[in-house]
Amino acid sequence: MRLLEERILRDGKIGDGGVLKVDSFLNHQMDIALFCKMAEEFYKLFRNEHVNKILTIEASGIGIACITGQVFGCPVIFAKKSETINIAGDVYTARVESFTHGKTYTIMVAKALLTPADSVLIIDDFLARGAALSGLSALVRAAGAALVGAGIAIEKVFQHGGDSLRESGIRIESLARIQSMENGRIAFC
Ligand code: 5GP
Repeated sequence: MRLLEERILRDGKIGDGGVLKVDSFLNHQMDIALFCKMAEEFYKLFRNEHVNKILTIEASGIGIACITGQVFGCPVIFAKKSETINIAGDVYTARVESFTHGKTYTIMVAKALLTPADSVLIIDDFLARGAALSGLSALVRAAGAALVGAGIAIEKVFQHGGDSLRESGIRIESLARIQSMENGRIAFC
């Protein structure tokens, strides 16, 4: 998506350890006009898939997922993160190693919210090593729901998270695909 690529080139900052900072329009301050355009792109890609629920992970996926939910006309669920493994209640859980924080979290969704009747589209801001997407897809599987695919704002292709997930059969559509971030330069696929 040209608009998103241009915005990354203009306002993105390359941080340490292969992290791209997009705090001025995506991860901290949110450009809602841009989110609307991204949501329309996701709709074009997945509109024939009978999506009836959108699933994301807190915190930075929530904004994009909400606008996307508005376009699809369906509810948005965000998987909650907890640092403890002992979680009370009727929930599906998965373990996720955070790329940006270096910690492992348990993510969870209430069993009542995801059922075998659901066709789920996962939405997230970044795909790096694939742990978040893998955890979210595990929650969908545990619920017996259908996973329609994943819509990602920015995929860092050089971190290869998408490789095994695509091989496992998950349809992943990323709006901006970064091939490399070297010597202060961002190159798209
Ligand atoms: P993964 O689990 O695919 O390794 O990483 C995906 C998650 O880590 C996303 O939910 C996102 O919040 C965070 N993340 C990964 N790479 C980046 C990055 O370069 N910049 C930012 N801001 N977040 C990232």
